[in-house]
Amino acid sequence: MNLETADSRIRGLRPPKARVDPYRAHGTLLEKERRPDGTIEESLTIFLAGAECPLACSFCDLWQWTIDGPTPSGALTAQVEQALSSHEGRRPDRVKLYNSSNFFDPRAVPRDDAKSIATLLSGMSAITVESHAATIGKRAIDFARSIPGRLEVALGLESIHPVAMSESNKRLDLDRFNHAIALLEENEIDTRVFVLLGMPYVPNPRPSSGQCARSSTPRAWARRWFP
Ligand code: SF4
Repeated sequence: MNLETADSRIRGLRPPKARVDPYRAHGTLLEKERRPDGTIEESLTIFLAGAECPLACSFCDLWQWTIDGPTPSGALTAQVEQALSSHEGRRPDRVKLYNSSNFFDPRAVPRDDAKSIATLLSGMSAITVESHAATIGKRAIDFARSIPGRLEVALGLESIHPVAMSESNKRLDLDRFNHAIALLEENEIDTRVFVLLGMPYVPNPRPSSGQCARSSTPRAWARRWFP
């Protein structure tokens, strides 16, 4: 697949964006979640407004909630401050920062904002951010070390079906994904993985979510279904 052509084709099919204020978060969500050890925790998700992801995955609709150009310096700090100050009740166990892009892309999250956010969330026992596997590196490790609580990075694997992976235009392969997971694990950073069920281009029968969960790594999962 010619990636430039795929990007242009996908972007060309999009309607105009809504107007987004980069100093105002889209909203928050308080929910209970089950952790891998079976405990239930309360997490506060803050849906942040900021720069659009430079990638153009064919299934993604997050671009609608982004601005053109880089996130202005200070904007994310202001959004997190507002969200925390408007939260009532006891402090959540976890804060999830979903910025419709990649937390470790400096165009999306300026360096000074990452520092200010780490300070603002220093009382939290856990923080989750989202980022493409290709962005996992020193910035992720530095951010993890700048917070007293645990960092969890949410990574979109989406599918390990080779045709679906290619057609998704995600620009991700299993080696890169596994490398990111290994780097995070080596640095005691937790991970959560997004998998799309019912991905176009995947022939039936499709593996169930239970089968996804039972396989230990994407590579193991791939071996199971594509020996
Ligand atoms: S990498 Fe994530 S945010 Fe970027 S286009 Fe793909 S799914 Fe959307």
